[in-house]
Amino acid sequence: QAKEAGRNTFRSHHLDVSTDVLNDLVIRNGLRPALERNEFSLHYQPILTLDSGALIGAEALLRWQHPTLGNVPPDRFIPVAELTGHIVGIGEWVLGEACREAANWSRRGLGELTVSVNLSPLQFRHGTLEAHVSAALAEAGLSARCLELEITESTLIGDTATLVGQLANLKAQGIRLAIDDFGTGYSCLAYLRRLPVDRLKIDRSFVADMSQDADDASIVRAIVQMAAGLGLRTTAEGVEEAHHHDALKALGCTEVQGYHYARPMPADAFACWAADRLGQPSAAISD
Ligand code: C2E
Ligand code: MG
Ligand code: MG
Ligand code: MG
Repeated sequence: QAKEAGRNTFRSHHLDVSTDVLNDLVIRNGLRPALERNEFSLHYQPILTLDSGALIGAEALLRWQHPTLGNVPPDRFIPVAELTGHIVGIGEWVLGEACREAANWSRRGLGELTVSVNLSPLQFRHGTLEAHVSAALAEAGLSARCLELEITESTLIGDTATLVGQLANLKAQGIRLAIDDFGTGYSCLAYLRRLPVDRLKIDRSFVADMSQDADDASIVRAIVQMAAGLGLRTTAEGVEEAHHHDALKALGCTEVQGYHYARPMPADAFACWAADRLGQPSAAISD
């Protein structure tokens, strides 16, 4: 994974297949005790409004420090955790931890920030999600409107009646919902009318090539316009360059997230970053 190559001691570029198979086994076996051994943590990446650069919240991103593999990227272990079912327990921990941290932000005077938590389709199918969400909010003392849940289009495939019911119940509590990696899935767009969604997160693959590739620019433009028509906000992911920022602004995208503004940070570093930013309320995003 080139994006965090500097920090990952875990290497996935080995062409040696047996190494991958071995790593899969190590990951599979390592997931079971990882929660009790406190090997997971969350990093937080700021989400900002595109026009004023105001901080509106952060996405919680799971990190796993494995005793021998080192830092294993989520794209590597989450699919395994989904296969084994461990993602349900891990996801419950993520919800609790993210809500505790978000409650800290308001105690530290950082204002009412939203924490966004990624959910696996399995958490919906398992049937315990609503209970886990309510428990996480209650234990943290966090207002439901400060929690946003990110689901991918793959969640929307299958038993949609049950899913729509679950999402409606969560929404009724005041929780916000976002569709992550929007545009990469296969779902039918009609679900956007039936689901109580607040926000579309435009996948970073479209953002990355927007300036060179006219097709990607058209896709981003279409998503932004459709979202505006449906009364939804749009967050562009993976904004790495000033020219991405400028192009997104011209297209009317409302929120941004990416290395151009800030990388995902450990909890304390995020709180400091947010406090710094609050100290300069008029600071527009540099570009
Ligand atoms: P995602 O939800 O789409 O998260 C955004 C990913 O883009 C994160 O990767 C983030 O570090 C990365 N990113 C942010 N800005 C930039 C940028 O400017 N350039 C580039 N190249 N990348 C950027 P990360 O943290 O490796 O997470 C990967 C995926 O793992 C996430 O994609 C999400 O699908 C999944 N994930 C992470 N945490 C959790 C979790 O707690 N539960 C579940 N179920 N999935 C999670
Ligand atoms: Mg996400
Ligand atoms: Mg995404
Ligand atoms: Mg993703």
